[in-house]
Amino acid sequence: MRILKKINLPAHNDDNELDALAQNTRLCSYPYLSNNSAIIKQQYKNYTITGGDPWSVASCNLPLTLQGSLITHYGQPPKNRLQFLDEFRNKLSPNFCPMCGGFGLGTLDHYLPKSDFPQFSIFSQNLIPACSCNAKRGVTVKGDSSPKRVIHPYFDTFLKDRLFKASFRGGYKDPSISVCVINSDHPNIDILEFHLEKVILKNNIIGWLEGSWSDLRKRPYDLLEIVLPEKIAKIDDSQLDVSIKRYLRAKDKEYGTPNNWWSIFYYGLLQDK
Ligand SMILES: [Zn+2]
Repeated sequence: MRILKKINLPAHNDDNELDALAQNTRLCSYPYLSNNSAIIKQQYKNYTITGGDPWSVASCNLPLTLQGSLITHYGQPPKNRLQFLDEFRNKLSPNFCPMCGGFGLGTLDHYLPKSDFPQFSIFSQNLIPACSCNAKRGVTVKGDSSPKRVIHPYFDTFLKDRLFKASFRGGYKDPSISVCVINSDHPNIDILEFHLEKVILKNNIIGWLEGSWSDLRKRPYDLLEIVLPEKIAKIDDSQLDVSIKRYLRAKDKEYGTPNNWWSIFYYGLLQDK
């Protein structure tokens, strides 16, 4: 099961964390970090103001040594420092991936990739709990022209709305399934389509939808029993419609977002008579 979801910006004092690291004379970042911490703090501020928009954030102008040290600190946190990393990885979103997202969590995705934006390697607002879609996305964060970019689950409030649906073409038995943006006039259509292509589709939502359809077709009573009327010999179209609507509502609520893969599947089914 996969979910794409707006999650709340975590509370973490990144400036204090930076100061503590900068003062530690035994770290590889010393003294570069203390010499540059004001610049990094300014970049953190800009990140928050622009919501991490890769089209607005300035590129990194830190000394190369410091760029490498920040990436090293992320991979091997100094003793008693950066403890929020494990917390984010395991507790911030324990049952779903806000990027795409799968139940197989356990990684942190750098929204702005650390290789291209090392100044945000250990910046909490740039670190999003994620599944294997993290590796599949790689360093892709923006397209060939503004505003095409990946959705940011901490900042993009439009994630609260229902954005995507499955679309079925061809025969009942073996339809061709795709995913599309529900509202082609959405004000953020370029961002939604870019994210769909580079994150959601890359994590094989189509295979998952095909499997879900095949399973539902073979044993609808087993899968929908919880929302079907009791003791019915045969279900008619309107009963099925009501049942699927209830099931969709339940899935929206269960995951706290209408953009989980179950909801994308059942919403698409309802739209396809
Ligand atoms: Zn994911």
